[in-house]
Amino acid sequence: MAVDSRARKFVSFLLYVALLTLVPNSIASGQTSPPRSDDSIRQSVDALLQKMTLEEKIGQLTQFFSFEAPKDLDSKISRGEVGSMLFVPDPAERNRYQRLAIENSRLKIPLIFGFDVIHGFRTGFPVPIALAASWDPALVTRAQSIAAKEARASGIDWTFAPMLDIARDPRWGRMIEGAGEDPYLGSAIAAAQVRGFQGDYIGAPDHVLACAKHFAGYGAAEGGRDYDASYIPESLLYNLYLPPFHSAVKAGVGSVMAAYMDLNDVPATGNRWLLSEVLRDQWHFNGFVVSDANSVKSLATHGYAKDHADAAQIAFRAGVNMEMALTTNAYNDNLLGLVRSGKITLQQIEDAARPILETKFRLGLFDHPYVDEARAPQILSTPEHRTEARIAAERTAVLLRNEGHLLPLSKTAFKKIAVIGPTADSPHDTVGPWIFREDLQETVTLFAGIRDKLGSQANVAFAPGVQISRIFPSFFDQIFRETKPTPWTPKQTDDEMAKAVNLARSSDLTILVLGELQEMIGEAASRESLDLPGREEELLEKVISTHKPVVMLLMNGRPLNIKWAVQHVPAILDVWYPGTQGGAAVANLLFGDATPAGKIPFTWPRDVGQVPISYAHNRTQAPEDQGKRYWDEESTPLFPFGYGLSYSSFEYSNLRLNRNGLKPGETLDISVDLENTGNVTADEVAQLYIHQQYGSASRPVRELKGFERVSLAPHEKKTLHFALGKDQLVYWNSARKDWVLDSSVFDVWVGTNSDAELHSQFTVTP
Ligand code: BGC
Repeated sequence: MAVDSRARKFVSFLLYVALLTLVPNSIASGQTSPPRSDDSIRQSVDALLQKMTLEEKIGQLTQFFSFEAPKDLDSKISRGEVGSMLFVPDPAERNRYQRLAIENSRLKIPLIFGFDVIHGFRTGFPVPIALAASWDPALVTRAQSIAAKEARASGIDWTFAPMLDIARDPRWGRMIEGAGEDPYLGSAIAAAQVRGFQGDYIGAPDHVLACAKHFAGYGAAEGGRDYDASYIPESLLYNLYLPPFHSAVKAGVGSVMAAYMDLNDVPATGNRWLLSEVLRDQWHFNGFVVSDANSVKSLATHGYAKDHADAAQIAFRAGVNMEMALTTNAYNDNLLGLVRSGKITLQQIEDAARPILETKFRLGLFDHPYVDEARAPQILSTPEHRTEARIAAERTAVLLRNEGHLLPLSKTAFKKIAVIGPTADSPHDTVGPWIFREDLQETVTLFAGIRDKLGSQANVAFAPGVQISRIFPSFFDQIFRETKPTPWTPKQTDDEMAKAVNLARSSDLTILVLGELQEMIGEAASRESLDLPGREEELLEKVISTHKPVVMLLMNGRPLNIKWAVQHVPAILDVWYPGTQGGAAVANLLFGDATPAGKIPFTWPRDVGQVPISYAHNRTQAPEDQGKRYWDEESTPLFPFGYGLSYSSFEYSNLRLNRNGLKPGETLDISVDLENTGNVTADEVAQLYIHQQYGSASRPVRELKGFERVSLAPHEKKTLHFALGKDQLVYWNSARKDWVLDSSVFDVWVGTNSDAELHSQFTVTP
């Protein structure tokens, strides 16, 4: 047996070697390389650095976009003066660039190719804020590893994701790319994404290098205006904005992107404290830092640098290893002069290039620089990937309201169903905003999903009702999209509105799809209003006035003003931008073949005037008035953080602690019984919150410190355990400039959202 299998292995090895000889370097980059030890990689890089000229070393620090690249890009690559390219999603084009580097350049150092793979490459997954709403890190890992596989097969080595910016202001459009408002949930989702993209190690087959972005504080943009300055006190930086990044570093993320904006008057890309002291000295990050697009040159625009040469020097000294740039690259143009004039040393250039070269070795790019062009079509969008995308969409939806148990709907009770809304039959919106290689033909819209689910059992008709003009093609569409969506010119909207309302009136049930077009959210897409766009609110009120049953589906990446809707629409399901299989998933949810269990990863304001709003605010001097601060509105949110309903019901009981007092070094075991008291199998996300009653700083009234998504059959009961120790109880105290564990009494709650009532207490003593 043993001899047999050894012989078989030997024959396979020979075949493998023969294949390698027949098709030199044609294996998809990184597909076959086992992990190499740190020492052996260090030696390879040392040997390489010894052979490299200064120009070649600076080349490694240079990245260009495939469009708006310098005219002499090809010859620059051939001379070894470019280290990386971004936005080359076509494998053949990628191989052409790589051939210039491998066949023409002196030392044959491969390029590394980056791309924004945010919520899927070809197969569209729900947008990141939705993935966070699943509270299911394992799902998030699966989704991002599929995205990684599709991207790697297409020749992408590196994704500019995950985006880890905490956002507490929904006017900021990039909230959709992150995990919401909370540092604990954000950290869990961050680590899950890094694992998904990178696999078990950098260079794992079918995976890509991840990039934690945008470091740091981008989500605190003043007024929610994208790119505006952030002013963040030290305590909030350490306790709120930085933890997801630290979590990504602990999970082994190989690169970090410096943010665009000013952080406390020092642009993040020139912020030495952030990029060197925190990232490298405190966290021991040993990958490399890339700038955001043009953010080195922007140091001059900000008024932080005199000119591009000064900008290059500042960013370089701050700790940016590689500059991402359009047309001209300040590093490429100026570092040589800065070294020659003695402002930067050769050693510093080598130190900056080292982690980039190490990463290229880790990814296996030296051994397998090319991508197998024939493989990509086999990997993209397989049925398995689509199934995972559907499951992801089911697990991310949040049931916001379900009066009288209108949902799930019976498949046979409604013979005529109206599906109404501007995005209800739009593949472009279903798939969401941060995906560029999606296949719109295979995207299942909500209307298509519902129609296909019911087949001949019901007559399902569609009307847009409201038409919202799209600014087409958007910047991103022009540049990246394979299939350019057709411009949408609003038709006579009164007619469309009347048609839709008549359809609702003549139907047994209306499924009303409201929310934002996907162009209204994302980068450079802030809004000063959270209202439903265009005439959607009017459409909603008119449809409700037909007195027919109405289910509202919300497509969004931020909380919208749905105050009127929650008083008048019996059932509201937040489906986000659900991705390629969105319609199939939503149909399953509507008709009870899947049960919603997502929970909102942010506090949902009643209106824009309440923002920023978070469940984790500090206690005020008049806590009993907490809900009555505004003259014209409650100050409580519309929905608390962590909120989401189910078709089933759950009961929490028997909250118990294995000890009442905790000393540093000890861990508390908190357990609770959770029972599914309804009649359907369903998931529940159990959440644990704490509050430090007093101490050397005021602490938030509640802080999430544990969660678990569990699936329970009807009447099944499970005991859940949460561990609490020093790591969860310390916080950064800006007066003491240190992490502090106060002796104090702590409240603890476990329950279904941040308003959980089941309560206990423990003390921490030195
Ligand atoms: C964004 C980054 C993105 C980069 C490349 C920038 O405008 O801020 O998040 O990775 O473009 O597309």
